[in-house]
Amino acid sequence: MSKSDLEISFQKVLDGNKDWVDFVAHDTTGRFQQLAKGQSPEILWIGCADSRVPANEITGMKPGEVFVHRNIANMCVHSDMSMLSVLDYAVNVLKIKHIVVAGHYGCGGVAASLSRNQYGIIDNWLCHIKDVYRLHASEIDAIEDETEKVNRLIELNVVEQVFNLSTTSIVQNAWKDNRDLSIHGMVINIGTGQLIDLDTTFTNNEALGKVFAYK
Ligand SMILES: [Zn+2]
Repeated sequence: MSKSDLEISFQKVLDGNKDWVDFVAHDTTGRFQQLAKGQSPEILWIGCADSRVPANEITGMKPGEVFVHRNIANMCVHSDMSMLSVLDYAVNVLKIKHIVVAGHYGCGGVAASLSRNQYGIIDNWLCHIKDVYRLHASEIDAIEDETEKVNRLIELNVVEQVFNLSTTSIVQNAWKDNRDLSIHGMVINIGTGQLIDLDTTFTNNEALGKVFAYK
């Protein structure tokens, strides 16, 4: 019986895994046997679910080196239990040292948030990005070029998500315990592969202001 197009397209996954199994079998460093026992990454990556921005490939990090959470438009929403659970495990169990919030130019989620179109249930998620727009509306509205407008909101969205992470009790309690924990805001240029630092790094709660910084 000949395979359907659907089966053929999925076969890539199985074939790819065969190659990976072969690669692991020929590895002589012993690292996969070590990884099978546990992980101790130093980096938590919070990125967009977009298929073009895989954390490991972009940073050259190997399996075991980066703990990853991805969602539409790399959001850090205070009530998102999935993100909070990843953050808590990363900070308090894995004791990671760096968190990277990685946006990317051309992000469809951010572009959609700048329109008045309805896309379905995702509209409620995109509202968090519309809130970022509201904070920076005068700057965004002053940009005429549509691509530049979206890309600037992509940068500002990363800055706001870094701030959101910094305000969580999880991160602030780690700082209170004098833990070395840095939160970095970065944006990926998919066309060049470059990871650009937005220079919005937080290493303590001093810049959060009197309402957000816990005693
Ligand atoms: Zn995206």
